Amino acid sequence: MRVCPNCKSSENRLRIKEKEFLVVECNSCGLVYLLNPPDESVIYEDYYQIEFKGTDYRGDSNYPHLREIFEINKQRTELIKEITKGKADLSLLDIGCGSGLFLKSCKDEGINGEGIDVSNTALGFAGNEFGLSVYNKRVEELISENRKYDMITLWHVLEHFLEPIEELKKIKELLTPDGILLIEVPNLKSIKFRLSGHKWKGGNHPLYHRSFFTSRTLMNTLSESGFNKAERLKFTYRLSNKGYLYNLSKKVFNTFAADAFLNFAARNGNE
Ligand SMILES: [Zn+2]
Repeated sequence: MRVCPNCKSSENRLRIKEKEFLVVECNSCGLVYLLNPPDESVIYEDYYQIEFKGTDYRGDSNYPHLREIFEINKQRTELIKEITKGKADLSLLDIGCGSGLFLKSCKDEGINGEGIDVSNTALGFAGNEFGLSVYNKRVEELISENRKYDMITLWHVLEHFLEPIEELKKIKELLTPDGILLIEVPNLKSIKFRLSGHKWKGGNHPLYHRSFFTSRTLMNTLSESGFNKAERLKFTYRLSNKGYLYNLSKKVFNTFAADAFLNFAARNGNE
């Protein structure tokens, strides 16, 4: 059986059981993780089912989920501009870029980022529909090419890694000395997860999700990976279709790290 990817302890207790998947909590460090992950090589090509065109991705799209993703990505881009104080010629890498929707929002705002992913279907869409620079490459390949980035983004990607600490150590090598890693993951301690438990598909997806982070366990993962200058961002998305009270409640939940997502910024700290 698999040991805890944060602290290597093999002592754990069951938190969620769904079909054959066992999600456990480490008795030693508290990380919640998938005990029996499936073979990665067989699942990711089916992850993206793209049933729209690049031109459908806009703020007034006929596809409600695309409208929402468009708004979210626009706010992510604003956040990046804020954090980097509008640095000119910002070099950005989006790991797990998928169909390129975030990178397209960056491009619209004058940030020409690059992306990597493992799904050729998604990469083909990102290249053909948006003309983005995206590659089916692994982090190791970019390291061997001596690539460096001012900003690396992991939007709902860290929870997919089997060994988050090992991956983060590699990712750190791709940052410029004062580079910043931005992370967003589903929040195990969110009101959504607490109320709907394993039924919350945004958080519990045992086929693809291997770690289920709280603010505390994510901070552990980051410091074990060598990121000593990490902070949780109290960043919530304003969704125009959801109304004032919904948006306000998200903000309130976020003050005690209980919104649906957790956002962290980690500085390389080698400057
Ligand atoms: Zn542990």
